Amino acid sequence: MDDFPLQGGVIHCEDVPLPLIAREVRTPVYVYSTAAMQRQARVLQSALAPLDNPLIAYAIKANPNPAVLATLRAEGLGADVVSGGEYRRARAAGIAAEKIVFSGVGKTAAEMALALEGGLCQFNLESVPEAEMLSGVAFSMGRQAPVALRVNPDVEAGSHAKISTGAAHNKFGIPIADALGACARVRELPGLRFMGVAVHIGSQLTSLAPLEAAFEKLDALIGELRAAGHDVRTADLGGGLGVAYDPAAPPPPDPADYGAMVARVTRGWGVRLIFEPGRVIVGNAGVLLTEIIRIKPGGAHPFVIVDAAMNDLMRPSIYDAWHAIDAVVPNSERMIADIVGPVCETGDTFARGRDIDRVEAGELLIIRTAGAYAATMGSTYNSRPLAPEVLVNGKEWAIVRERQDVKALMRGGELPAWFASAR
Ligand code: PLP
Repeated sequence: MDDFPLQGGVIHCEDVPLPLIAREVRTPVYVYSTAAMQRQARVLQSALAPLDNPLIAYAIKANPNPAVLATLRAEGLGADVVSGGEYRRARAAGIAAEKIVFSGVGKTAAEMALALEGGLCQFNLESVPEAEMLSGVAFSMGRQAPVALRVNPDVEAGSHAKISTGAAHNKFGIPIADALGACARVRELPGLRFMGVAVHIGSQLTSLAPLEAAFEKLDALIGELRAAGHDVRTADLGGGLGVAYDPAAPPPPDPADYGAMVARVTRGWGVRLIFEPGRVIVGNAGVLLTEIIRIKPGGAHPFVIVDAAMNDLMRPSIYDAWHAIDAVVPNSERMIADIVGPVCETGDTFARGRDIDRVEAGELLIIRTAGAYAATMGSTYNSRPLAPEVLVNGKEWAIVRERQDVKALMRGGELPAWFASAR
């Protein structure tokens, strides 16, 4: 099912022609499909349905737009948060406290207090010092903090190095060999209630093998913890399922195969399983719609200079990520081009030597698979306002984040008093 179909020679999002959105909202603009998000949420829910009451906690970092959160809350998803800001967004979207998992290696005392005050399913702790800090915060508030230990299983995810999190040299989790000792320490600290274990080995995984290897290690750890007298009630298996960026590349794992693998490995665990998917829910539900400013002759190929830039979609510049790029009104002629943004960095390049439809200045392109880790990573580099976001639902569409006003962007850069006195 394509939620960005070519109809009458024009790419739509669901039933809305993209040129209409470009005309009304201007470009660059992110466009999200409600149907795509709903479908992915349901695909994952049905893949995990044979498990006993799993909690699917959508990783808000992938796309924290309030309308996206509201869409996924309506599908029954919880939230995985990694900051006080994300916790607030989850609660503001109406996500029940008991469906919120708080991850992250650097939670502050203020963030811990915020989540304890509002309630949550569990904190995933990544070190003993973090457990000690949380114990102090919870004790001073007269609360019991539900906690799981995120372990580092020392498994290579096989993903890009910058989004792999489960190898021994990565900053994440407690080394799995230290988990028994860490659990004993957690059990003696006041204000903490030990719930279970957690693991997340990375993002954009294109094979189930490393996930299975990590879960097997968790299986052994749960046995050891129980043998040592610790009650293990939850196991959080993280996120990480990849999505198809390049239709010509081998397809990423099917959620149904992931569900079957999880059911097989976790049989007999007797715990509530928690999942933290992000990209697989929203990645292919969004595109970045951009207009061609001009075409500049180049050495090997012309440069197609678009009005979106690396500040709107960081992935190509920081991960060398490949995104499909298509003309919104394709024709039968082709050209080879470098597709670049206006930012003053050579890294502001979306594609090199790409075979695309022959296009002219003023025409529209979409950069696909921009639903996850796109708007959320946006910056105002080169004093470019944050681009707006639009949500489509069938024939309806709405702006769900306005384009940032340049005046708002300039606010917060105040002159110190000595400039006034020098006048
Ligand atoms: N959980 C944690 C702790 C993460 O760090 C991430 C992202 O890296 C996710 C979940 C979501 O990962 P993904 O979007 O690949 O499913």
